Amino acid sequence: MELLKQRILSDGVELGTEILKVDSFLNHQIDIGLIRQIGNEFAVRFQNENITKILTIESSGIAVACVTSLCLGEVPVIFAKKEKASSMTGEYFGAQVKSFTKGTVSMVRVNKSFIGPEDTILIIDDFLAHGEAASGLISIVEQAGAKLAGVAIVIEKEFQGGGKKIKDRGIRLESLAVVCSMAEGKIHFR
Ligand code: 5GP
Repeated sequence: MELLKQRILSDGVELGTEILKVDSFLNHQIDIGLIRQIGNEFAVRFQNENITKILTIESSGIAVACVTSLCLGEVPVIFAKKEKASSMTGEYFGAQVKSFTKGTVSMVRVNKSFIGPEDTILIIDDFLAHGEAASGLISIVEQAGAKLAGVAIVIEKEFQGGGKKIKDRGIRLESLAVVCSMAEGKIHFR
């Protein structure tokens, strides 16, 4: 998606060769106009899949998932929770996820009442790096016995291998900007 690539080039900040900071439009301040176009693009790509629910992980995937839902007929958005709160009663699907930015491993959870075999799920996230978060969400869809339509990612860092892992499992992956390297202060797209 050309508009997104241009925005990454103009406003993205590389923190070394591994982390891309896009706080000015995606991860801290949200450019709603841009997110609307991103959501529209995801919706166009998955419009024939009869998506019944969108699954993401807190927190930065939520805004993108909600806007995509508006373009896909207002299907419910579920976000996997990273912390176990005392309000979380009932039964949960869970998956261990190693955080790319913190390095810690935590259990992400989705209440069992929200996904079932009747659902066709679209997974959405802001970034794809090693594929840990996406793998955790895929595991939750599998545990629920739901159908997985695919994984939709705003920014994939191809050189960190998560995309290959997903595609090798035969899962459809749609990434709007695919970064193939971030060396010497330059961002290169596929
Ligand atoms: P993965 O689980 O694929 O290794 O990493 C994806 C998750 O880590 C995303 O949910 C995102 O929150 C975070 N992440 C990975 N790489 C980056 C990055 O370069 N910048 C930011 N802001 N978040 C990232």
